[in-house]
Amino acid sequence: MPTNKKKESKQPPQGEPSNSTASSPSTPQDKQPIIVDIHTHMYPPSYIKLLQSRDTIPLIRSFPGQPDPRLVLLPSEVPLLSNPSPSQPPGRPLTDAYTSLDAKIAFMDKHNISISVLSLANPWLEFLSSSPDPNSAVQPAIQINAEFEYWCQKHPGRLYFFGCLPLHPEETVQVFVAAQTLKRTLRHCRGVIVGTNGLGKGLDDPDMLVVFGQLQELDLPVFLHPHYGLPNEVFGERAEKGEYGHVLSLGLGFPMETTVAVARMYLAGVFDKYPNLKVILAHGGGTLPFLAGRIESCVRHDAYLYAKEKESGKKRRSIWEVLKSQIYLDAVVYSEVGLKAAIAASGEGGVERVMFGTDHPFFPPLEEGEEEWGSVAMNKEAAEKALGEGSKEAEMVLGGNAVEILRLGEDCLP
Ligand code: URA
Ligand code: ZN
Repeated sequence: MPTNKKKESKQPPQGEPSNSTASSPSTPQDKQPIIVDIHTHMYPPSYIKLLQSRDTIPLIRSFPGQPDPRLVLLPSEVPLLSNPSPSQPPGRPLTDAYTSLDAKIAFMDKHNISISVLSLANPWLEFLSSSPDPNSAVQPAIQINAEFEYWCQKHPGRLYFFGCLPLHPEETVQVFVAAQTLKRTLRHCRGVIVGTNGLGKGLDDPDMLVVFGQLQELDLPVFLHPHYGLPNEVFGERAEKGEYGHVLSLGLGFPMETTVAVARMYLAGVFDKYPNLKVILAHGGGTLPFLAGRIESCVRHDAYLYAKEKESGKKRRSIWEVLKSQIYLDAVVYSEVGLKAAIAASGEGGVERVMFGTDHPFFPPLEEGEEEWGSVAMNKEAAEKALGEGSKEAEMVLGGNAVEILRLGEDCLP
């Protein structure tokens, strides 16, 4: 057993004072439940520099007449790059909400969020997995993870993070080193954020197995998050011209991407091979809670899979088994209906497996001067409506589960 683990009380320590009305998570007279945001992004300085140096997406570029530089991430935005409309340039403004720690803390205070588990926003370092230099992501990952750790140390008890990995098909040793470092030396790390690309061929790539094996061994949860959505053609010409904003790619493309990624992992047998691997799915699992039954039926009625299973004598666990034992879902679903589905799909006791998140700084209020974020309120209300305002279950989803699952009351991981 490791000896350096300092067990703190389940109540996380009070955050650093800030000029806010935020309630302390630990004052006895304070009846506010602890709110933990497990889905909240930032771009640290070294990542910004990297994106500023690029001329293909993902990139950061300034456009005439725009007060902020713009972050251009999505393939659906590429056509708009060569012919940007002055009124609607591609991407989104890179405000200090993405880059400033003070802004993050102010956002947390404003919304009574006691603890945030920060993560680099998409597309992490995925775009470097096709670089001819297998080590191109190594230094960026080291630096980014160190910057997150530094931020967390500035606000003890209020901030933790999911680290990022330098995934490259020709260099998995560096991935192991990064994972080891995250676990052993960056004490605020509580897992890794991973996109759907893996080493370039998706998460069912046999070469990803060693990565998942390492993450299981280190007991580092994977936070699986989408970035590419679906191909532009799916959404049609009008979407390509920007007529529908980001609605189709973010509303449908993102959740489908997550669903496909996790279904591929499931079909490739990743969960059966690594039964202690923990995977947290963004956006309530995409559409998995709704489609799990259909996936299961397709598996059970597939002649090819049936024959293979018979031949090998190995029976695949059902998707429901995996959902209730290895998958956790965030509660970034914006509706009571979606949240109830996420909880129900997570099996008996599913309410213990779902964790609140905001997706900050995406989906900000659009009116000048609006300080409360409607997108945050929608997720909070969903928990309160689905589980009862002030109920034990609502408190679990809003914060208690994250404290338990991500060991937020502990000084470092065992
Ligand atoms: N949420 C994210 O995390 N990333 C995006 O690009 C948009 C919404
Ligand atoms: Zn996100």
